Amino acid sequence: MRFYLLSLGCPKNTVDSEGISRLLQQAGHEAITEPESAQLLIVNTCGFIDKAKEESFAALRELAELEQPGQFLIAAGCLSQRYGRELATKVPSLDGVIGTRRWMEITTLVRNLRSKDYPRGKPAVMTGDPLEGIAEPMRGALRGASAYLKIADGCSAPCAFCAIPAIKGPARSRPLEAIVTEAQQLVGRGAREIILIAQDTTAYGRDRGERDALPTLMGAILTAAPDLQWLRLMYAYPQHVTSHLIEVMARHPRVCHYLDMPLQHGHPEVLRRMNRPHDVDEVRRLVADLRETMPDIALRTSFIVGYPGETEEEFSALLDFVAEMAFDRVGVFTYSPEEGTRAAELPCQVPTKVREERYARLMELQQGISLARNQQVVGRVLKVLVEGQSEGLSVGRSYRDAPEIDGLVIIEGELPVGEMVLVRITGAMEYDLVGEPVSPVPQSPLFHHCCGTGGTGVA
Ligand code: SF4
Repeated sequence: MRFYLLSLGCPKNTVDSEGISRLLQQAGHEAITEPESAQLLIVNTCGFIDKAKEESFAALRELAELEQPGQFLIAAGCLSQRYGRELATKVPSLDGVIGTRRWMEITTLVRNLRSKDYPRGKPAVMTGDPLEGIAEPMRGALRGASAYLKIADGCSAPCAFCAIPAIKGPARSRPLEAIVTEAQQLVGRGAREIILIAQDTTAYGRDRGERDALPTLMGAILTAAPDLQWLRLMYAYPQHVTSHLIEVMARHPRVCHYLDMPLQHGHPEVLRRMNRPHDVDEVRRLVADLRETMPDIALRTSFIVGYPGETEEEFSALLDFVAEMAFDRVGVFTYSPEEGTRAAELPCQVPTKVREERYARLMELQQGISLARNQQVVGRVLKVLVEGQSEGLSVGRSYRDAPEIDGLVIIEGELPVGEMVLVRITGAMEYDLVGEPVSPVPQSPLFHHCCGTGGTGVA
């Protein structure tokens, strides 16, 4: 069958989409990009916040309108995991629903749908726990020369606003050997950058009683994949960032000096209501430690504004915190009550208008900070992974930029896509940098693959 797969939501969903696509192709189905010509239409939905849910519903309805006799429409992903049966009533022509814990059974679902004996008129819903004994398929999602590699799924943190633990269940870490093998395979398929992802990557191994397994995993990947150039870490939980992890990040030249560590707020009382670690001074010490150990580190974080009960004073404290910490990048979300979460039941929900106004104030503040941080990079030579070119310009990313969420480096000249080149940064904007190529790329073993500097401090 020809299948069309639309992947919505975050990189973790992208990884699952890649897995779904691979399983279907292994079973002889053909991936196509035109929904009209597909016999199988799949939307890998996102159920994180209201906006994401609406987008997922809209995509399903749009495809449902296109659906012709002989076509099957399947909803996969977080929204399906959470609202499986309800989804079936909201999108009447849906044929199948498969959740985040069962996507590896996609070929079974397709086989069932195609079977003459299968009852029509009611969608097949597969959202329970996975069947025992299913072989774990390869989960890395390769995009150009970058690959997401999922190291765990689910989350055991108790954040009061988040529906992820209810959707995905507690954190379950994948075996180290399976991840290392997959990293090797991804590098064999052309990956130059591997991005480790999970709901909380720094919780890796904790479900097995291992307190500090992530640095061990990173070391094992780097040893097993000597051609890997960048290993990047996303989604760290501040309390789980250990001194061992910082030491490994600083010591290994191929680990990007980059950390995405969502903090959610900067006022202890709001953090307490969020059921998050609320010792803000501890966060200050952690950030100081990261910057002292890796002076070139790029730090990304995200905050929620308009959390229930957030006063103007608490929000002002968040603004002060953001100004003080000068993170390189900040993502801002307006609070959205999620069904089944404790935060949704809290009194004093902040009016939408106030949430939006706070969003705009925080974004405006951070834009100036991001620009100042980018300006500090002007004059440095960075290693850049080229990802595209057109009309005399190339675009790429340095170690400071994760794909899709951070900025780009815009380079003069048409450079080979998929290659790493050295670029001297000549200009800075709020999100992006501008530069010119410096050649040739040095091959010295002392060359720091991550930040492009040479020599000192490289183990
Ligand atoms: S750590 Fe992240 S995924 Fe886990 S409950 Fe908190 S916000 Fe949700």
